[in-house]
Amino acid sequence: MIHLPFSIHSFLRLVGFALIAMFFLPSCFASDTITQRPNIIFIMSDDHTSQAISAYGGRLAQVCPTPNIDRLAKEGMLFKNCFVTNAICTPSRAAILTGKYAHKNGVYKFTALDQRQPTLPKLLQQAGYQTALIGKYHLHSNPAGLDYFSILPGQGEYHDPEFIRIGDEHPSGWVAQGKRTVFQGHSSDVIADQTLDYLKSERYKEEPYMLFCHFKAPHDPWQYATRYQDFLSDTDIPEPDNLLDDYKGRSDALQLTSQHLEDIAVNWSDPEQLEKETQHLQGKAKIRKLYQTYMKSYLRCVKGVDDNVGRILDYLDEAGLAENTIVMYTGDQGFFLGEHGLYDKRFMYEESLRMPLLIRWPANIKPGSVSEGMVLNVDFAPTILEAAGSQAHPQMQGRSFLPLLEGKQPADWRQSMYYRYYFSHFETEPHYGVRTYQHKLIYFDRIQQWELYDLEKDPQEMLNVYEEEAYAPVVTALKKEIKRLQAVLDDRPDDTGDHPDLGELAPAPLYVSKNVQLGKGNVTLLIRFRTGVGGTLFSVCNLEADVYQDAFSRQGIKTLFIHEGQLVYNDGEESDPIADRVADGQWHTLGLVWQDRQPYVYLDGQPLEKNLPKISQDEVSYTFNIGAGLDESGFMGYNFQGNISHVLYYDTPLTQEVIKAFAQGKMPQAKASLQWDNEK
Ligand code: CA
Repeated sequence: MIHLPFSIHSFLRLVGFALIAMFFLPSCFASDTITQRPNIIFIMSDDHTSQAISAYGGRLAQVCPTPNIDRLAKEGMLFKNCFVTNAICTPSRAAILTGKYAHKNGVYKFTALDQRQPTLPKLLQQAGYQTALIGKYHLHSNPAGLDYFSILPGQGEYHDPEFIRIGDEHPSGWVAQGKRTVFQGHSSDVIADQTLDYLKSERYKEEPYMLFCHFKAPHDPWQYATRYQDFLSDTDIPEPDNLLDDYKGRSDALQLTSQHLEDIAVNWSDPEQLEKETQHLQGKAKIRKLYQTYMKSYLRCVKGVDDNVGRILDYLDEAGLAENTIVMYTGDQGFFLGEHGLYDKRFMYEESLRMPLLIRWPANIKPGSVSEGMVLNVDFAPTILEAAGSQAHPQMQGRSFLPLLEGKQPADWRQSMYYRYYFSHFETEPHYGVRTYQHKLIYFDRIQQWELYDLEKDPQEMLNVYEEEAYAPVVTALKKEIKRLQAVLDDRPDDTGDHPDLGELAPAPLYVSKNVQLGKGNVTLLIRFRTGVGGTLFSVCNLEADVYQDAFSRQGIKTLFIHEGQLVYNDGEESDPIADRVADGQWHTLGLVWQDRQPYVYLDGQPLEKNLPKISQDEVSYTFNIGAGLDESGFMGYNFQGNISHVLYYDTPLTQEVIKAFAQGKMPQAKASLQWDNEK
């Protein structure tokens, strides 16, 4: 049995709750009210889609059954129409925790969650719950509202992953920089191990808990535990009918995307091996082969998740805890398993839009029930809060579906849902749209093209009927419905999510320019700043568009950041501390000169000796960001904390004298091509 490092905060909260209970609930304090509140285990895997859960039926149910996850449907409820509001990992996680759409919680893309807003874990704590999160977190800001956490840094590793646990934060408070502990084994196994440890640990038994168990699998690069290497090896995985979709009659978006199976090598753990296996093939034969290879790896990861869900459910049975524990299973969004010739997610098409959702709660859900009711990821927080005896925060845009669990769908339950995907990468066009029980209207706003599907007649979404006269009234009605939902949800079509407010541990960045030509080789940057606890002073990369793809190679990314009083330069490959005299709370100046592509750094007017790598000639123009940065996984979030008073950018190398003078408070005479002066 392990003893988890619970925070003093948790203890004080418990005492506070007990005192309130003693004073105000004298008759029921003894045990009932508090212990009767359900424990909640929220299991979420990453990119696990309903087509790969046998309780949902479908072509893979026989090939790769998921008997353990299916148990939740047999003993509880299966949701057929659970939808994501923005089909991508980090935004969906943010929507789940905040109960709000991306344009309200600020996580449109891969940016940090502003933890100043009310979130599910924080509200549960206030309601007297213990909260814990084990596994994938991936919200780029510090976890908040958790009494215990053990999280994978960034995406985490599949084999022998490192975790950062509560109590191991970096002294600056920055969790991502904290101490890492390696857990030997496959990530799905060790996440379940830690989940079981938590369930068996000494908690304050008077307090119910909510445990978030977040598997990394089956996210790319689909590395499974070695015990599954022979699983499905002799099986021909059934293909979807539209594997070889020609996209006829649809918008250009399906052509433009790089989510085609032919593009899958970028997400493959061993792209060279994949190339070797498929280079002799072309066209349809190649797609078919890629599909088989992809599906086997994906399903082996799924099998690992299902087996581990079984371990958790078995423990609840053995310990007699199943009755009063709500167990939810979901994936953060749907996923394409070859439908439309695609892999990955993002699109509003059914396979990506639909989230699996299975819930067991013996006290309130009839075994074997199925709900057709339309529920959304933004509903999770309001529902869980209500089940915990609390209520949704007024900011939350979702609605509790607790009545649906009891088989009572309110008469005014939603008949349509609003979806929006923002441009980030994989060349998937941004779009928004509405889905009703029968139709789906999608508007790809950047290319200004529409698609309409009749889901009853065409569940695979192969026939775009937008131009068909018979559907003109539907188009009119659905366009009106989009407008209505945008008004209700307070979303503006022109809000493309390019300038999110990144919050407390990641203050809003200052974007200086979108087109800085470092490759020209002769530029100067001057910054006057005062640090709080460090963070990124400047970065060069397209944070909003290319950062995710760049993160794989990190080519083109240059960052200069302050970490524990050190000035650190990262050229896209390695971090190199270049000075150690940047005290918190004091004003400093930084001069960065690239002369013939060789960088020179001046701190407080003094040149630094360090020899930094030369910039290659191929460096193209990138967004130049001041105060906005990346964590070490290449994700946005490690932004500057402190003050920046001046930023000056010149298309020419300035002399050391001018840089020295700037350090002494004199502005250079040359006119900057970009200038930002906070003192005005
Ligand atoms: Ca995901």
